[in-house]
Amino acid sequence: MLGSIMRVTDSPSVSLTFDDGPHPDITPAVLEILARHGARATFFVLTEPAARHRSLLAETVAAGHEIALHGASHARLTGSSDVVRREVVDGKAELEDLLGSSVRWFRPSFGEQTKASFALARRAGLQVVLWSVDTKDYLDGDVDERRERLQGGFTPGAIVLAHDVPTGGHERSGPDEAKLRYLEWVLDAIGEVTSTIVTVTDLVSAGHPKRSTHFHRPR
Ligand SMILES: [Zn+2]
Repeated sequence: MLGSIMRVTDSPSVSLTFDDGPHPDITPAVLEILARHGARATFFVLTEPAARHRSLLAETVAAGHEIALHGASHARLTGSSDVVRREVVDGKAELEDLLGSSVRWFRPSFGEQTKASFALARRAGLQVVLWSVDTKDYLDGDVDERRERLQGGFTPGAIVLAHDVPTGGHERSGPDEAKLRYLEWVLDAIGEVTSTIVTVTDLVSAGHPKRSTHFHRPR
């Protein structure tokens, strides 16, 4: 049980995960696209925007998706122990209060953690989930190179990193149409290797988690 979950083996499915939300304008647009593709996802949310947009959490869960913890404010876990406690332990308590149910998965901001933050998360009853495929949807500009690099990179058992809100994007007013089109492409590309896009819980329960003990952001 030591290490962060990167992907699973022996599963025909792929798990799509979204970080940094919720956002009142963007998250509903993402939910609409997922519904059209028959996909279910895990949303690693920040508790500060989640507390302001609590109904979005309920809407996300009602649509068959899963809510997990990404922290309180997206602070780096390489900082002081007070910061780590706020992001991990307080964040978990706040999110569970908002949801009225327990939270099992945690993804550190920037995928960066320390042995101390990892141990604290485990003591808080959280399992750390990173990813095996990064869509790099936080980048702007031309997506052709990204598409080429990712084509064929989605494989059964993968945990795919995406964002409903771009980092630092909570001040944005509406969705970025280019990013939504890119998400459509990601869903179509995953659809070429699996007909089941599922939550982390469903992916893990149907396969065997592959863990890594490294504490830096995956490539
Ligand atoms: Zn993030």
